[in-house]
Amino acid sequence: SELATMMNVPVNKVIGTCMNLGIMVSINQRLDAETVNIVADEFGFKTEYVSAEVSEAINEEADDESDLLPRAPIVTVMGHVDHGKTSLLDHIRNTNVIAGEAGGITQHIGAYNVTLQDGRQITFLDTPGHEAFTAMRARGAQVTDIAIIIIAADDSVMPTTREAIAHAQAANVPMVFAINKIDKPGANPDKIREDLSQMNLLVEEWGGKYQCQEISAKKGIGVDELLEKVLLEAEMLELKANPNRRASGSIIESSLDKGRGYVSTVLVSNGTLKQGDYVVAGTSYGRIKAMFNERNQRIDKAAPAEPAIILGLNGAPTAGDSFHVMETEQEAKEIAGKRERLQREQGLRTQTRLTLADISHRIALGSFKELNLIVKGDTDGSVEALSDSFIKLSTEKIKVNVIHKAVGQISENDVQLAYASDALIVGFQVRPSASARKLADNEGVEINTYSIIYDAIEDIKSAMEGMLEKIK
Ligand code: GDP
Repeated sequence: SELATMMNVPVNKVIGTCMNLGIMVSINQRLDAETVNIVADEFGFKTEYVSAEVSEAINEEADDESDLLPRAPIVTVMGHVDHGKTSLLDHIRNTNVIAGEAGGITQHIGAYNVTLQDGRQITFLDTPGHEAFTAMRARGAQVTDIAIIIIAADDSVMPTTREAIAHAQAANVPMVFAINKIDKPGANPDKIREDLSQMNLLVEEWGGKYQCQEISAKKGIGVDELLEKVLLEAEMLELKANPNRRASGSIIESSLDKGRGYVSTVLVSNGTLKQGDYVVAGTSYGRIKAMFNERNQRIDKAAPAEPAIILGLNGAPTAGDSFHVMETEQEAKEIAGKRERLQREQGLRTQTRLTLADISHRIALGSFKELNLIVKGDTDGSVEALSDSFIKLSTEKIKVNVIHKAVGQISENDVQLAYASDALIVGFQVRPSASARKLADNEGVEINTYSIIYDAIEDIKSAMEGMLEKIK
């Protein structure tokens, strides 16, 4: 009805157009963005969205190829708890304290930059665990260039390791494997390589494409070699940015400090951030009063891939929010204000992610080309059987990906992965944990559970064919 009014056409024509697209709608129904686009187009209108995300478009004119210079890779370490993420990050940080600064207290600010002997640099996201990775991706921020997947050699590839791998793969981030704790008597690196090969991840020594390094994060063995491999991976990515423009990037973390006010760690992805710049980040804005590095030293600028602590925002933006430098304070303030209004408005509508019922609708709209599934089941056999059958449902138009599969209850992590990857969760003879159920409800992630394999396959198949009868 609202759309019809805006276009000044009878509402039943809009409903008719929707029906032609295979969408049954009522007069009060809210249409999603894609549908609005297509319907408007049918009536000769163009749509423009002034949403929280799209208003970022300001200040985002593309760079000239000739203005781009190489930048450092941004690396995240992920792995199972106790496999050595913190030890590795701490070791790298501590061995990289430049002479003369030794003893200088470094603080955890969520990211740090290291310079190797030969001057090459790597930026580490110092927020171990993939929660941060997922949270950022869910907000549309792809901060990480390369993921180090750390696995303890006296243990095995664990469920969290698998999840970390699934996250990296879903985000298309190249992985380098670090087999840790090789100093331990019970260490068996070959077992880890074997575990990985079982997941179709063949390491280089075994003729595969994945770089892998045996390390001891505790004793510092193999860490230089690991960094070398990370840099090799980075070289292939040809990472570049233009340091000579107004900065943009991501918020890594924020807090309210008693003495200093709102403090945010930012990572510059393009341009150079300077003290005195007017910044907008999420619904916050302000002029940068001061900037610091992780050694708590004052700095006056941060180049691409460099982290910095900034002071002067009027709020604490969320990790994963993007930030932009604007020309004037007025501009920054306006965008922040607009976002706040939109957020309030959007908060009133429930946002839902992908559901079985709208797969066919999205396929009909033509922009939906891949269906991501997370498969959890009670046994290895059922998980494999289901995953294989799902993948075989792929058609020319739509590819079915199983981005994560595992035996066990549906966990909060599964829901987070589904949220970040716009995936559906399929459970076979398993249920979500109470916390996973709650998170899924809050985030609008759909969980489908089955006790008959045939039913699960039929549901996905029917949804893809647009014939799902059992609308949930
Ligand atoms: P995280 O949970 O992945 O961050 O793991 P931590 O870095 O906290 O390490 C867990 C435990 O393993 C700690 O007690 C570390 O001292 C120990 N650890 C980590 N790396 C090594 C290693 O290379 N060798 C040995 N022997 N112990 C290690």
